Parts: sequence; structure tokens; C-alpha cells
Amino acid sequence: MTRTTPRRPADITEAFPQLAALARTATRLHPRPGPVTPADSSIGGPLLWPADEPWPRCDGSHECAFGSSTAPSMADVRLLRDIEADSYGRDRTELEQATIDRILADTLAPDKPLDVFPVALAAERGVPTEPIAMLPVAQLYARDMPSLRPPAGADLLQVLWCPFSHDSELTLRTRLFWRASGEITDVLAEQPEPEAVQSEDFVPNACRVHPEPVIEYPKAFPAEGMDSALAEALREWDEAQYENAEEVFYSSELSVAPGCKVGGWAPWGRTDPVTLSCTTCGAPMDPLLTIASEEWDGTDYSWIPYEDQNAADGYPDPSEPTGLMLGDLGKQQLFICSADPAHGHIDLFL
Ligand SMILES: [Zn+2]
Ligand SMILES: [Zn+2]
Repeated sequence: MTRTTPRRPADITEAFPQLAALARTATRLHPRPGPVTPADSSIGGPLLWPADEPWPRCDGSHECAFGSSTAPSMADVRLLRDIEADSYGRDRTELEQATIDRILADTLAPDKPLDVFPVALAAERGVPTEPIAMLPVAQLYARDMPSLRPPAGADLLQVLWCPFSHDSELTLRTRLFWRASGEITDVLAEQPEPEAVQSEDFVPNACRVHPEPVIEYPKAFPAEGMDSALAEALREWDEAQYENAEEVFYSSELSVAPGCKVGGWAPWGRTDPVTLSCTTCGAPMDPLLTIASEEWDGTDYSWIPYEDQNAADGYPDPSEPTGLMLGDLGKQQLFICSADPAHGHIDLFL
């Protein structure tokens, strides 16, 4: 099923023609849980990984989450999500609740039994001390999304991250791989998984993506890419909408799309925009990929695709298909060098 963003409720370039020059195409990914293969673009799906290439591992130091006494295994994460899905809309059984309590065991509840079910998994709690396998987060084929802009010869981007936070870093550590998919004939069949993760919040559900190009304009509050006079005029326009009860707002409905997306403008809001420069060549950095905790929230219903507007409640929530929770409903924004994608990238928590 494709996904179709409703037409924006107003054409902002009629009121502000100067915004036309700032229009950018982003590709909304519309991830939804479903079967994916290495041949597909995906969030949290298997990668087209060369069989003869070592899997990336993180050699940082890893600890349990604050206030937690366990690091769940991937099997635990899957079990937890299966229980959440199975028990949606009814009371959990005692066994289900005890199992969830074990997986999410925290030090505030030391009397909770840690090995209720299944016993074998309990032995896996604890944080790995060896470098751990990184988790696939995104695999994006250029054929599915024109806003990807891979380096010459490449047509595929693979993004992995470490499922533990490090020190006081707000973002998860990522590694990017640009590839020519046609050159990969022998694909790694058994992909390594981390022995444990810091939190199930950092494990994306395997999701199909439904790429859709949309037009974005930069955020005005805080402003990026525009002078203060235009930002102020947009603020006044927004306030007039509010006073006239038009309920069409530049900030939430006409500028940057919510959710996971490729390219476009960065979803600033928690912090003021910063100008990022490539540490290799000094060129400006462009938004590459937004990994979001939710696809929409209470302020941006107008972005809900037509196909999801009558989606039944369930687990995962239709607005949180990836199962990711980054900070407090935050986003990890990846930026890439505008001159040469091979120069490296920057992650910010937005
Ligand atoms: Zn790590
Ligand atoms: Zn550069």
C-alpha cells in the first residue's frame, strides 16, 4: 500500500513568494512493520551486506540504562513486543506481566523475580564487555528516493547504530555505508546481532518503507535559511491564523514534515539551528536522514497519510510504527557533507 500525505491546507508561497526559493523535496519514508529482505529499502530490516566484509561493531564502553539492572537481549525485546501486541486491549495474564517486569526490571523493584520466563533468557541479562554488533537502522536504495543523492557509483545507503548510549551523548553512535548494490553478489545470510541492548527503545521494528516525496520549507521559529524579517512575518501570519481560528499553521503544517524522512529541511525545534560544516572540506552539511520516535503527534494530524487516517488502535501505535523512543519523543538527525557524502556525517538530537 502506498502512503499519501494530504495536500497542505494552504500554499504558503501565495502569501510569501520568497519562500519558493527555499522549497526542498524530502522523502517521507512512512515505515510500517512488515516483512523485508536485503533487496528492500527498510527501517530496521536486514542489510545487503557483503558476505566477506566484517560486520561493524562498537567498541565503546556499555552500561545498563540509568535506573535499570538489566540489558535486555534481542530475544527479550521480541518477546516483550509480542506480548504487548498479543495482549493489546485486554488485561495481561500474570505470566505476561511477570515476563514484562523481568525484561524491564529496574532497581526500583528489587523484589521482582528476574527469571520468571523463559529461564534461558534470564541468563543473557548483563551487559556485554566485548565490542558488540551494531544494529541495522536504515537501508535506503536510491531508486526508491530521489532525495538520497548518493556519491558517484553508489546507489545504496546503509545506516547502523550502537544500541547503547555513550557517556552523556544524546545521539546513538551511527556508522554509514554507501554501496553499489550491483557489486554485492554474495550476501551475508546470518547477520550478527548484539548480545544485549541498553533499551528496547533503541531497537527498530523491521519496517517496510513507502517513500513519498513532499515539499518542505525551513522552520521559521527558530529560523533557518531565511532572514529575520521573513521569520517575523511568518510568525505574525501564524498568530493571525490562530486568532482567526483558521487552524493552519506554518510551523506545524506547512514547513517540515514529521516522522522518518530523507533530505529536506532539519526538524529544528528543541534547539536553535546551528550551521554545520564538514570537518574534511569545510562545505556546509545537508540533512541526510531523520530517524523519528513518532510519525505524527497531536500538533500535526494534517500529515497523517490518507491510508492511515482510520487505522485501528493497536500495538505498535500507528503513530509509532518503528518502536523507537529516542529521548522524550525526539529525533536523531543525520547530516552529510554537501560536497562529498564520503566525507563523513554528523548526528544531532533534535
Ligand atoms: Zn556502543
Ligand atoms: Zn566535505
